[in-house]
Amino acid sequence: MRKLKKIGFIGTGIMGSAMVGHLMDAGFEVSVYNRTKSKAEKLIERGARWCETAGECAKNQDVVITIVGYPKDVEQVYLSDGGIIDSAAADTYLVDMTTSSPTVAEKIYKAAKLKNLNAVDAPVTGGDTGAKNATLTIFVGGDEESFNALKPVFEVLGKNIVYEGAAGSGQKTKIANQIALAGSLVGACEAFAYAKSAGLDIEKVYAAISKGSASSTQMTDIVSRGLNGNFNPGFMLKHLAKDLAIGVETSTTYGKTLPILSMVLHELRKMEEDGKGAEGTQALLKYYGVGR
Ligand code: NAP
Repeated sequence: MRKLKKIGFIGTGIMGSAMVGHLMDAGFEVSVYNRTKSKAEKLIERGARWCETAGECAKNQDVVITIVGYPKDVEQVYLSDGGIIDSAAADTYLVDMTTSSPTVAEKIYKAAKLKNLNAVDAPVTGGDTGAKNATLTIFVGGDEESFNALKPVFEVLGKNIVYEGAAGSGQKTKIANQIALAGSLVGACEAFAYAKSAGLDIEKVYAAISKGSASSTQMTDIVSRGLNGNFNPGFMLKHLAKDLAIGVETSTTYGKTLPILSMVLHELRKMEEDGKGAEGTQALLKYYGVGR
């Protein structure tokens, strides 16, 4: 199997910057691009090559990885004139790790095939902690041959790496993940709102319920940050809203109504309207009247 050595990486934000660090530590030659160069400064100091455009970053690579913001950003970097698909050499692997729409993933897969490029959708879960510790879960859709070829790259970034099926399946699995996550996040916030209104000692309630059958990663990794007064954003509310909106839109096309999903999205949209979109998901606690 061809040895993968050179990686073009687009999107060195909260997730991407930690991921690039691991790829460099593992010996890959990494080139980076964002619209804002300062977001890549630390990686450039460590030896990453800066590129002025997404297309430049995709040229002469073995693999191009993207983890940008929204589906519109994914479409822009892959499908615009002079973008990734226009610029990558034949046989390059294209890996979109953004949480994006399954339809966009299928569109990119088809456009890539026409140019002899191998595109997979490979969104992740595990948050900023998972990116920093290289313990992400990675859901992969596309050709199984591409998945197998890319495994050495995925293994640098994550621990639980699953091939889900045809193009778009990675994104569909990620959205299922977000639907479960949204319920458990809001459930944990409501539990502490209830405990506070009942006059209980929040710390004692946390000590008890975070170790029982109601515990969850959302409670112990995210909500606990807010309870401890840490509101630095790890996963921004606006990105969760984007994921849940994809969930509502796609579930409607599958003929499925998911009431909790719609309710949580409604609350997040209200927070976005209040200018809180760039806050971390633990900020939901404040919305429920809990947290310092
Ligand atoms: P972030 O900090 O905003 O990072 C996004 C990066 O992509 C930034 O460096 C941004 O830089 C770049 N970017 C965005 N649009 C671009 C475009 N059109 N062209 C070039 N570069 C672009 O967000 P993040 O938290 O890392 O999340 C990234 C993606 O991963 C999102 O889809 C999110 O839902 C998903 N995700 C996040 C987490 C988490 O816990 N944070 C966990 C799992 C999945 P410029 O704006 O300067 O271009």
